Amino acid sequence: KLFNEVQEAKGNIRVFCRCRPLNKAEISAGYNTVVDFDAAKDGSLGILTSGSVKKSFRFDRVYTPKDDQVDVFADASSMVISVLDGYNVCIFAYGQTGTGKTFTMEGTQQNRGVNYRTLEHLFKVSKERSETFSYDISVSVLEVYNEQIRDLLASGQTSKRLEIKQASEGFHHVPGVVEAKIDSINEVWSVLQTGNNARAVGSNNVNEHSSRSHCMLCITVKAKNLLNGDCTKSKLWLVDLAGSERLAKTDAQGERLKEAQNINRSLSALGDVVSALAAKSSHIPYRNSKLTHLLQDSLGGDSKTLMFVQISPSDQDVGETLSSLNFATRVR
Ligand code: ADP
Ligand code: MG
Repeated sequence: KLFNEVQEAKGNIRVFCRCRPLNKAEISAGYNTVVDFDAAKDGSLGILTSGSVKKSFRFDRVYTPKDDQVDVFADASSMVISVLDGYNVCIFAYGQTGTGKTFTMEGTQQNRGVNYRTLEHLFKVSKERSETFSYDISVSVLEVYNEQIRDLLASGQTSKRLEIKQASEGFHHVPGVVEAKIDSINEVWSVLQTGNNARAVGSNNVNEHSSRSHCMLCITVKAKNLLNGDCTKSKLWLVDLAGSERLAKTDAQGERLKEAQNINRSLSALGDVVSALAAKSSHIPYRNSKLTHLLQDSLGGDSKTLMFVQISPSDQDVGETLSSLNFATRVR
């Protein structure tokens, strides 16, 4: 009982808000920052809405445009390590296209993001523990587009239909998906790039396609306690979500409309699941989308969840910014 009380007081859902810098195009077009970071150290930020009304939001962390990849990972690292202790973990980036979801999760060669840093940290800590534990680390990279799951590490057979199954131990998994075993950090960046490159196959605009699909990296950890022989298996999902922006009315037809409906449906399903968990509701609607169904083991129970809500500082984007911040407030 005491354990439960401690868990409840701490809560298993964290929300970090990250704002990217104004970019060159925005500066030269004369756009201004609408975000007030005066209370960022306390986890608060203000948005100046039209009519100069300031709306305040509170999160577990607020990152200003000056905070870098190291600052961000420093706060996420303790959650990541839980996967070595047998917990399931889910970290996802939510927000409008162009706000830095991919920058935060994937990063660039020079400015590596949460995905790479997570694996780097897991290898470092597992080495420190090597006298008492042996760990087996593997990764899968999936894409969910229009409610269809694609294996980004599978060579060739990109049209293979993948489904989610529940194993007898209760674990959800996708039979047939490639699980690439990783033995050292040196292999990580190239495996992640393989996944990335596969996203481009069959789409004529990679960036556009990426912003309309969810990219999901799953790290599976098998741990063996060398002292007593106990084994655990746990999963850490790292998810770069599809852009949360609403479709322009002029685009609301054909393929675009179908994509938009699927994105809307899956992001709403994610919001519903996380807010049902936060409200300790008895029914958690995991089955309403492939996204939430895949993440089921890592959302709720004693698993740990971290959401990055990514925002733009520009007055041009204030509507989408408010809607993202409201979404993030709802799940908290
Ligand atoms: P999204 O994945 O949300 O569509 P991106 O990650 O592609 O957005 O970011 C859009 C652009 O902004 C990219 O050129 C990216 O490098 C840049 N960017 C995003 N966040 C930051 C940041 N915190 N610092 C510097 N550049 C950033
Ligand atoms: Mg992106």
